[in-house]
Parts: sequence; structure tokens; C-alpha cells
Amino acid sequence: MSTTAAKEFWFVVGSQNLYGEDALAEVKANAQLMTDALNNSGLLPYPLVLQELAVSADKITSIMKEINYRDKVAGVITWMHTFSPAKMWIRGTKLLQKPLLHLATQFNESIPWATIDMDFMNLNQAAHGDREYGFINARLKKQNKIVVGYWGSLDVQRQIAEWMDVAVAYNESFHIKVARFGDNMRHVGVTEGDKVEAQIQFGWTVDYYGIGDLVQYVNAVTEQEIDELMAQYANLYESDYGANSKEAWEASVRVQASYEIAIKRFLDEKGYNAFTTNFEDLHGMKQLPGLAVQRLMAQGYGFAGEGDWKTAALDRLLKVMSRNQNTGFMEDYTYEMAVGQESILQSHMLEVDPTLASTQPKIMVSPLGIGGREAPARLVFDGKSGEGVVASIIDFGTHYKLLINEVSAFEPTVPAPKLPVARVLWNVKPNFQEGVKAWIENGGGHHTVVSFNLTTDQLVTYAKLVNLEYAVIK
Ligand code: MN
Repeated sequence: MSTTAAKEFWFVVGSQNLYGEDALAEVKANAQLMTDALNNSGLLPYPLVLQELAVSADKITSIMKEINYRDKVAGVITWMHTFSPAKMWIRGTKLLQKPLLHLATQFNESIPWATIDMDFMNLNQAAHGDREYGFINARLKKQNKIVVGYWGSLDVQRQIAEWMDVAVAYNESFHIKVARFGDNMRHVGVTEGDKVEAQIQFGWTVDYYGIGDLVQYVNAVTEQEIDELMAQYANLYESDYGANSKEAWEASVRVQASYEIAIKRFLDEKGYNAFTTNFEDLHGMKQLPGLAVQRLMAQGYGFAGEGDWKTAALDRLLKVMSRNQNTGFMEDYTYEMAVGQESILQSHMLEVDPTLASTQPKIMVSPLGIGGREAPARLVFDGKSGEGVVASIIDFGTHYKLLINEVSAFEPTVPAPKLPVARVLWNVKPNFQEGVKAWIENGGGHHTVVSFNLTTDQLVTYAKLVNLEYAVIK
């Protein structure tokens, strides 16, 4: 399941006809040079395509309509090289339905004091043009991103790159399709939500299937297909038999291999890129999918347990935004409360995303303790360390809210020989007491998506694009 897309961004440079043809030729040449330099920077994840100069309302409207119409175009970056009277931008900007980044930059980094004259100042009046253009975006409540600084600086290029990932994820949001195998876990509140509203606001399609629909696919998997996947597992992971005989271990892992093949086939045939399971709804299944789910998350499918389709969709969204690096479904489990060592152990029953692994995953087979099925195989590893963001999407009845907490993760130093599940350990910002309190006060869920690649700013940028209320704890 790909987490990247064949997308491009259009670059629209604002000017006007007041300064004559020579000036416009220079604007165009500068814009081409800037486009080439940004594309060759190696920092932008998607190409930038320069358009005709935006010098009239008709031209701007026509470009914005094309951007809306073309699926390949994920968003638009605008730059006011000169003063571009912004009444010209109203119609096109109003019609624009894709993410907009106003790059408040200037062709020259510094003012050339020795040579500057009125011609130069007219041609390079971004500071003037930015304010005229920004006023219309503010008045239209466009929720556009603004990046300020010299276009050649690494920091500005990094900000453009991060925004591009958000814009592509925004476009992908309308293609997120979640297959739910079973309903929500019984009696649980925070995993519920209004699916119609989620489709209206975020574009997410959420469909239910009985577990029997999946069992048919499991039963159709051949022994040869399982053999081939088992060979891949043997190459990638350590085999830890634990208290099992080799034969019992293999039999259990083969069940998960059949689940991986069956779930992937089911999702791909029907066009889903995210899914949920529920340990309470396993008719016809020998095990709860564990290893199978972890393998599929590593391939880019969104997932959450216990029928939590909101978190599964968020997982898929953030996997696209991060291009599936160090990003996955998570759950708050157990506190460490000793003063000076405060942290929260993150895990799930089985389904911890291997993109978060810092150690070589090993396949273990161990009883689950709930669900009343056979002991499921799973990947066990320790999580990465580093600065990250954790997010939860919650339905308050009247509206959705995105809760974001910045976290510092560290690799566990103490072994946990009796815990046969992957583990991630972090402390929350600004500190354990205040961070945990704010999360609980805000009604944040126990199911989350964590990313060690994305930033708070990227999540907030997305929230603004879909008019989603958000709160940041940092
Ligand atoms: Mn859970």
C-alpha cells in the first residue's frame, strides 16, 4: 500500500502589467530560476511546476480552476514578486479547493545598497505585495500556510517540504477507506464517532464487514502462499520459540501468515487502505490478527484495534504525511510514576507498528489473556527514542477535535522478559503531571497515532485545512 503519490505542486507568481514587458520578463526569469533551484534542492518531496505569471483576474481564475480539476496537482504555492493588486486574486482564491502556501520571500536575499534605484525597488517589492495579497487571504478566511524567509535558505525549503507532505495527505484524506472487521469493542466510548460527519469533514469512507467475509479469504489462502511468506519472515525476523515447541510456534505463525495474505487481498480487491479488527469478534478465526496486522501497518495500511475506525483513518493519514516513516498506531498502557523517572509505557495487545522499532523484531507466540482464542504470533521489539508528536481524534457530539501532545521517547533500559509485546516508552510535554492532566481534561483517547517524523505544526496545518478544532499540549 503506497504512502506516496505521483503529485506535483503549481507555483504561481504574482505581478501586474504596470511595470512594462521588460520587468515582467525579468520576473518570469527569476521565477524560473527559483523553481529550478527549489526542485534541485533535494529537499522537496514533490516537484514544483511554474505557471504563467499571475497578472490578471482572468489568468489567476483560470489557473486556480485547473488546479482544482487536475488530480495530479496537490496544491499551490504563490509568491508576490512585485505588487500584485489583490482584487485580481479574489475570484480564483475563492474557487481554489486545494492547499495554498503563500511564500513570503524575495528574489534577492539582501538590499543592494550601492545600486538600488526605483526600478529595482518596484521590481522587488515583495514586502509590499505580501501585505496586499495576505489581506485578501485573511479576509477570505483561506486558512493558507505562510512561510516567511529567503527562498534559498534550508529552513524555508524544509518548511515548504513539510507543507507539501501535509497537502498531499490532505488530498489523500478524501481517498481514505476503512474496512471494519466487526464493530467497536463493547462498552467503549472514545472509539465511537459520527461516520457521516467524518466523511463530510475529512473525506473518510468507513464500511462494516462481518468477520465471516474475511474468513472466506483466509480459507482460500494456499499452503504454497504461506510457505513463501514464511520464507520472507525467516529472512527478516528472529524466531523466538519461547516456551513453545518449534512445531507449535510454526503452526501459530503460519496462521498469521494466512491472515496477512487474506487481509491484504481483501483490502486491495475492494480498494481499502485502512482497517480495524475486534478481539471480541473472531468467529471462524483461530487467533486475533497480530503479526499480520503489524506487517500490514509496516506496508502503509492504517490500522487501529477494537473497531476504532477514527484512529485507523488517522493512522493512514499520518502514514501518508510522513511517507510511512516512524509513524504508527499506539496506546497508552502503564504509568511509571517514580519521581524523576516519570513516563508512560506505550504498547497495544499485539499490534505495535514495526516502523517504530529500534531493535531487530523477533516473532514470538504467546497467549493473549483475552478473546478466548489460540495464542497469536506477534513481532516483539523496543521502540525508537526521540522527539515526537502523538495525536488522538475524538468526537464530542457537536464536533470533532484533534488533540496533539509533544513527547520525548527513550529506549527502555530495563528488560521485560515476561512481556511478550513490543513496547515504546515516553514522557509527555511539558512534564508528566501537566501533560497527562491536559490530555485527560481535553478528553483525549487511549488509542493514538504517534510520529517521530511529523511536527505539531504539520498536524495543525492539516486541522486548519479541514476546519477541525485542535488543542496542542507542549
Ligand atoms: Mn486498545
